[in-house]
Amino acid sequence: MTCSFLLYPGVLLTVLVVLSLGVLPVEVDPNGYILYCPCMGRFGNQADHFLGSLAFARSLNRTLALPAWVEFRNHAPRSTQIPFDTYFQVAPLQEYHRVITMEKFMKELAPEIWPPGERTVFCYSKRGNSGCDAKQGNPFGPFWDTYEVDFDHSELYGPLYFAPHSQFETKRWLDKYPPDKYPVMAFTGAPAQFPVNPADAPLQKYLKWSKNIEAKATKFIKENVEKPFIGLHLRNGIDWRNACDHVEQSPQMFASPQCLGQRGENGPMTYELCFPSDKTIIRQVKEAVKKYKAKTVFVATDQRDMMTELGDAFKKKVKLVKFTPSDPHVDLAILGKADFFLGNCVSTFTAFAKRERDVNDLPSGFWAFPTKSKKKTKEEL
Ligand code: GDP
Ligand code: MN
Repeated sequence: MTCSFLLYPGVLLTVLVVLSLGVLPVEVDPNGYILYCPCMGRFGNQADHFLGSLAFARSLNRTLALPAWVEFRNHAPRSTQIPFDTYFQVAPLQEYHRVITMEKFMKELAPEIWPPGERTVFCYSKRGNSGCDAKQGNPFGPFWDTYEVDFDHSELYGPLYFAPHSQFETKRWLDKYPPDKYPVMAFTGAPAQFPVNPADAPLQKYLKWSKNIEAKATKFIKENVEKPFIGLHLRNGIDWRNACDHVEQSPQMFASPQCLGQRGENGPMTYELCFPSDKTIIRQVKEAVKKYKAKTVFVATDQRDMMTELGDAFKKKVKLVKFTPSDPHVDLAILGKADFFLGNCVSTFTAFAKRERDVNDLPSGFWAFPTKSKKKTKEEL
């Protein structure tokens, strides 16, 4: 009696300690870890890179640390880092491969397996004056500062490259960097190709919106959308206009292989593909509204929403809606649910919506695609 009375508070205390620490301590993965900074571009680029990095981590059988999303706000001198799970759920990714949030890795594992003084950063070749210079510039410095990481050594891994589907290349990585000698591989940039390798695009199915984003998208649709509905992505800000000025010199640009094909087998790059005219947009939306008997058109844009022009074209026969205040992730979540989607083939932002729709068997199209060959245009004249 006395004994169990004495024991009971002890057991209770242990339970309370475990509960207050969150969950049980994280076990160390003997196969090692991959960390990286999504240091190139904005959300669409980072998402392309994420899918490749996930495939790479799996090819080396290392746990992937889910990095924060890097955001650039109103010309602020330093990027803002948004924890990965603000936008996406972690659990569905575990179905494909072992992952841990960067926050959890730093808090619960880094002190033991990656302590200050033993932090090596990996890059292909020398970046600045001293090795990888992994914290030089924005968002490089701000990203690692978010986790209070400073690097002690640089490891130049070139001429290895990221080819998770090549057994030969995978073996080279495993031979050169065994997990017992290199438990943590932290990369200055994403260990992945850009744009995403088509072989990795289906991994999109493991990227499930966080409860918060999903709820906003669902609520918006419930309150504002009469179905069926068509989603549009209009990419037309000044940065885009400037980028599109270079199409003449580029057979492919950014995400364009998603429609033109890896080797351009589906047609040539054109200015319209990159920066479609209002006329092209209105014609394609009209065709789509008719085909899908759409009652609503949802517009997502970085700049010009064309509400006036679309309103004139439809004369109130369809409802035109957009999500305000502007939120890129909610926009994407809504675009993912439309009955039909029209987007910009060159944009990686469009590519995100397109991949999500592909894995859910929903149809999509692109502005000014298929591109007209020169020969056909002549015939039409
Ligand atoms: P890309 O430049 O089109 O390949 O895509 P990125 O995602 O790399 O960069 C474009 C950025 O512009 C996005 O990350 C968003 O911040 C913003 N943006 C582009 N299109 C939209 C849109 O339809 N809605 C909102 N809210 N933002 C957008
Ligand atoms: Mn971009």
